[in-house]
Amino acid sequence: MTRLVAGNWKMNGSLAANRKLLDVLVVQPGVEMAVCVPFPYLAQLQERPRGLVLGAQDVSEFEVGAYTGEVSAAMLAEFGCRFVIVGHSERRALHGEGDLVVGRKARAALAHGLIPIVCVGETLVERDAGHAVSVIGRQLAAVLEVLGREAMARVVLAYEPVWAIGSGRSATVSQVEEVHAGIRGWLRGHGVAAEDVRILYGGSVKPENAAALFAARDVDGGLIGGASLVGEDFMAICRAAADAV
Ligand code: PEP
Repeated sequence: MTRLVAGNWKMNGSLAANRKLLDVLVVQPGVEMAVCVPFPYLAQLQERPRGLVLGAQDVSEFEVGAYTGEVSAAMLAEFGCRFVIVGHSERRALHGEGDLVVGRKARAALAHGLIPIVCVGETLVERDAGHAVSVIGRQLAAVLEVLGREAMARVVLAYEPVWAIGSGRSATVSQVEEVHAGIRGWLRGHGVAAEDVRILYGGSVKPENAAALFAARDVDGGLIGGASLVGEDFMAICRAAADAV
């Protein structure tokens, strides 16, 4: 499976800063490189480095109509998005998105030919209480309930332990391998074609730890927050993904 490295710019950027960042990005052979940008910049990104794939950071669960502030999957598709992040922990925590809403957003994305990058992951309190596996299982089960088995095999999953996001403290390779193997096993156990699903790791991926994380078992790429805003760092991470065996 080709590894995917997706940058999550979050609510960062400006027309001028984006231009500088894009100037540095050169798509590497052997890796799929994507940037998930704030909605207003989708227009600017219509011109982008060759091969760089476009994504967004959220999508409405609804099709069209009186949903002020929402952006539909059809709109994202019109702007050439291939990916859309759904269920990022910041949206779950700050905007109260529940597990089923995340599933419905993934369904809306798939209905318009977009690939949802579905984020799952536990908080530190949940991990310390020994609940990481059950929390992730609950998050996955809701998405499966909405999508069904066939569609579930068409999503990208991102394991993002909440305590590792933006904290500078990445999960260790063995923690990542354990959870990724657990996710794949969960999918298999629920009748989903688990080998078709790319499972990304996200949480303080940097040039210094990228090679080790991408070489880990069951890691099919990364979702990169802070480091995706620094062109040289994002490139180094993408090169590490391309070089990983
Ligand atoms: C993220 O927000 O998806 C993320 C992984 O952030 P960071 O790389 O900054 O930890």
